[in-house]
Amino acid sequence: MGKPEKIKSARVSILGAARSGLAVARLLKANGADVFVSDKKPLEEAAQQIQILESIGVEHEFGSHSDRLFDADFMVVSPGVPSNLNLVQHAMKVGLKVYSEVEVASWFCRAPIVAITGSNGKTTTTTLIGKIFEKSGRKTVVAGNIGYPISDYVADMDEQAVAVLEVSSFQLDHVDTFKPKVAVLLNITPDHLDRYENYQAYMNSKFRIFMNQTADDTSVYSHDDEAVEKHCRDLKTILKPFSVKDRINCGGFVDDEKLYLVENGEPVYLMDWKEIKIRGVHNLYNSFASALAARSLDVDMEVIADTLREFPGVEHRLEPVRELDGVRYVNDSKATNVDAVWYALGSFDAPIVLIAGGKDKGNDYSPLFEPVKNKVRAMILIGMAAPKMQKEFSEKTKCVMAASMEDAVAKARREAKKGDVVLLSPACASFDMFQDYEHRGREFKRLVMEL
Ligand code: ADP
Repeated sequence: MGKPEKIKSARVSILGAARSGLAVARLLKANGADVFVSDKKPLEEAAQQIQILESIGVEHEFGSHSDRLFDADFMVVSPGVPSNLNLVQHAMKVGLKVYSEVEVASWFCRAPIVAITGSNGKTTTTTLIGKIFEKSGRKTVVAGNIGYPISDYVADMDEQAVAVLEVSSFQLDHVDTFKPKVAVLLNITPDHLDRYENYQAYMNSKFRIFMNQTADDTSVYSHDDEAVEKHCRDLKTILKPFSVKDRINCGGFVDDEKLYLVENGEPVYLMDWKEIKIRGVHNLYNSFASALAARSLDVDMEVIADTLREFPGVEHRLEPVRELDGVRYVNDSKATNVDAVWYALGSFDAPIVLIAGGKDKGNDYSPLFEPVKNKVRAMILIGMAAPKMQKEFSEKTKCVMAASMEDAVAKARREAKKGDVVLLSPACASFDMFQDYEHRGREFKRLVMEL
């Protein structure tokens, strides 16, 4: 399998009828496959999905998964389905090939693919690369984990277009022939360890982004991330590492707060760091990765620099909300792991009142001890993780428990002094109190605006 010619009359089962499941069902059906979709969502809540599937003549089941799921030539899993799910494990055990939606879509994609992965920074970098290509005048589709399934777009893209794809480790677990023209690996830090056997397994799934690349393809990666550098330096591709620490002889580096891209062995000045609109060292990494990815497909340096001067960042990622009584309020609700919070704390010179907590994913908070001690005036703790965090941080800073986001915002206001930053950067998932991180961020912003 793996080639569109063989799709005609192939029997395919799709696990999950959310957006990407429906999109890949439509794509495969349009290419002649015999498609079956299975989702455990109760029948009475699935009216919309059923209507879509019936309109394209795709068979389905809702409410539970039957054995019919395994009676296929291959299975496609939705990105939300973890690889360690019993059903997926069983499918693989009985010899069924299991593919992710991006793998299947890539069989039909004529446009070069720029794929982005990493533990943090994927959405920011994917969005930014998309903006750079758009500004360059090239037809650009930004899709993948960012919320728009690429399957919906492949039919309308030719070689002149570009597909900019955010890919998660779960999607990478089930790629087979997926071959990005440019693959970007931003960083790897512990996350989702509840869904992987161990850290190495999680890292290995990230490395799969490079697995099918050949000598004409470009690998963009962080030279400063030791595990990433160790893996990538031996790839047989065009290597474009980026570093803010070392003056390296390929890729890109920073010298005296100026960014350089190495072209034909020579450093070429791109711009000053301070001209980049999105702040923080993490965003310098994201900017570098974006610049190198765009240069790999021949975008002008000027277009890259202009976009970096203008790009305001993405909602819920260090998003400025308002200033009140000389205190800045910042929404970083997407910081669902320790590393993102570490960078958030490093992005401000002012003292910080930090609102954190939520659903703990087995976090090791120790990397935050030092920055919390040095920069955080008080921590306002919410959610299920609050008692654990209070225990771990109470010797580093003042810890205040809060019963709700409303309570947290009120208490943060009380603790903050003129010139401070009140930062929501939770280090935890949101599901104990909110539908998702966006809901949490919106609530925070609403409450701050009502102060
Ligand atoms: P992802 O899509 O990988 O979750 P986002 O761009 O949505 O990444 O950012 C998630 C969180 O991580 C935000 O809090 C953001 O400020 C922070 N962040 C962004 N880029 C990086 C990076 N390169 N390294 C560490 N943290 C980052």
